[in-house]
Amino acid sequence: QLHEQLQVVRGNIRVMARVRPPQPCARSVINFPLEGLLTLQDPTSCRHREFEFDAVFGPDADQGRVFAEVLPLVRSCADGYNVCIFAYGQTGSGKTFTMQGPTEDPGINTRALQELFRIAAEEPDRTWSFSVAVLEIYNEAVHDLLALSSATGGSGAPGQDAVARCTRDVSALGAGELPPNMDRVQALLWRPVSTPDEVQDALREGSRARRTASTALNAVSSRSHALVSVKVRNMQEGRPVTTLMHLVDLAGSERIERSEVTGEQLKEAQAINKSLSALGDVISALQRRTPHIPFRNSKLTQVLQDSLCGSSKVMLVCNLSPEAISTQETLSSLNFASRAA
Ligand code: ADP
Ligand code: MG
Repeated sequence: QLHEQLQVVRGNIRVMARVRPPQPCARSVINFPLEGLLTLQDPTSCRHREFEFDAVFGPDADQGRVFAEVLPLVRSCADGYNVCIFAYGQTGSGKTFTMQGPTEDPGINTRALQELFRIAAEEPDRTWSFSVAVLEIYNEAVHDLLALSSATGGSGAPGQDAVARCTRDVSALGAGELPPNMDRVQALLWRPVSTPDEVQDALREGSRARRTASTALNAVSSRSHALVSVKVRNMQEGRPVTTLMHLVDLAGSERIERSEVTGEQLKEAQAINKSLSALGDVISALQRRTPHIPFRNSKLTQVLQDSLCGSSKVMLVCNLSPEAISTQETLSSLNFASRAA
C-alpha cells in the first residue's frame, strides 16, 4: 500500500515557464517560436537553445491566462487531491507577481481561494470549511507568520524572541505515517476563512509579519521561502475529506559566489541551495517514480511531503527575466525546470 502511495503517474507534475516583460529600454533574449516552446539566445555564441514545457507564457500573458492553467489543480484539490504550486526563479523574475500579484491584479494565491469558494457555493451539500496558514522558511527554520502576527498584535516590531516563539518543529515521520488530522508542521495556526475578504486579511497579516520577522532576523525576503497553505475540508459520499493546497513563493534561485559572501549571508546561501536542490531531487524522483523519495534533505521538502507524493498534483512555474544580463541565471532556471519536466 505504501508502494502504491509513492506511485506517481506521469502527468501529475506540470511545469510552466513565465517570462516577465523586459525592463524599459532592455532587449529580450528569450523568444517564443511555437506554443509550449521558448528559445534563449546565448550572447557569446549567438546560439539559440530551445526548451519545451507544458505551457510557456510570454510577457503578454496576463494573470488570468496563467490561472487558467492552475484551475484544474484547484478543482482537483476540491475533489480530494493534495496540491503544490511553486514559483521558482531568480530574484526579480516575477515569482511574487505570479503568486501574490498586485492588489488590483492578483495572482494565483487569491484566485485559487476565490475558485475554491466558488466551487463550495455551487455544491453547498458538501458542507465545506477552509482555513489558511502562512509560513516562512528561512535558514532551515519554519516560522508561523499568523502566530507571529497574533503574538505581536499585528503591530510593533517583534523581537527575536517573538520570532523564536513562533518557530515550529516539523514532524519527521515518513510519507503516509502521519496520523490523520495531525499537521506536518507542529502547533501550526490555521485561520478559518469563509470569504475573500477574510483571506485577504490573513494574507496581509502574514506579509506584514514576514516583513517584521525579516527585520528581527536581519534578512531579506527574497532569501526565504513564503508559503500560503490552504486546508480544504468537505464531505464526499458522506465521508469527511481533508486536502491541502500549498502555494509557494520560493527563495531567489540565483547562485551566490562563495567568495562574495561570508558569515550569515553564506549560511543563507547554503540553506537556499540545499532546499532548492532537495526540491529538485524530490520532483525528479517523483517523475522517475522511484520508490525512495528524499524528503528529509530540507525543511521545505519535509513541510510539503504529504503534498509531494501519492496522487498529489504539482505545478512548477519557472519565472524568467528576459534581459541579456540574466542569461546565466535564466539558463540555470531553465535547466532546473527541465529536470522537473
Ligand atoms: P521576484 O518575486 O521573483 O523577486 P517580482 O514578482 O517582485 O520578482 O517581480 C519583479 C518586478 O517585475 C516587479 O516590479 C513586478 O511587478 C514586475 N513583474 C513581474 N512579472 C511581471 C509580469 N508578468 N507583468 C508585469 N510586470 C511583472
Ligand atoms: Mg519576490
